[in-house]
Amino acid sequence: MHVPHAIDMSDVSPPASSPAVRKTMQGNRSRDTKPELAVRRMLRGAGFPGYRIHWRIDDSEGRYICRPDICYPGRKIAIFVHGCFWHRCPNCKPSMPKTNVEYWRPKFERNVERDRSKHERLVNLGWDVRTIWECELENVDAKSMMNKD
Ligand SMILES: [Zn+2]
Repeated sequence: MHVPHAIDMSDVSPPASSPAVRKTMQGNRSRDTKPELAVRRMLRGAGFPGYRIHWRIDDSEGRYICRPDICYPGRKIAIFVHGCFWHRCPNCKPSMPKTNVEYWRPKFERNVERDRSKHERLVNLGWDVRTIWECELENVDAKSMMNKD
């Protein structure tokens, strides 16, 4: 199982026992994870400072869409740095936890659907969306990523 090191293993455990714990687990995206820091460092190094962290993006009617991990509002480039386990990486295909599958499967499906929906809404608003998977971090080329399509 490919579990990002930035995530506490206690999160990768059976269903939460209390609503409070469940709420914490739903917020499984912690700020400033190691992969995010690595991508930010790489962008700075490649000559692309000036990004915003968790910048709020609304649609044209002012409805909240999301806060990408990294974004360049001027260039309209939104970058998501995804942990393979939580976001179900299509490249390294992390395995399903062996227990509590009935808990994990819908949770993962929601994550994937949420990612897909955000992506679609951003693209509709004219943003270029980049998704960087944790397993691909070393192969990311900042310059080509920052080129507009
Ligand atoms: Zn992966």
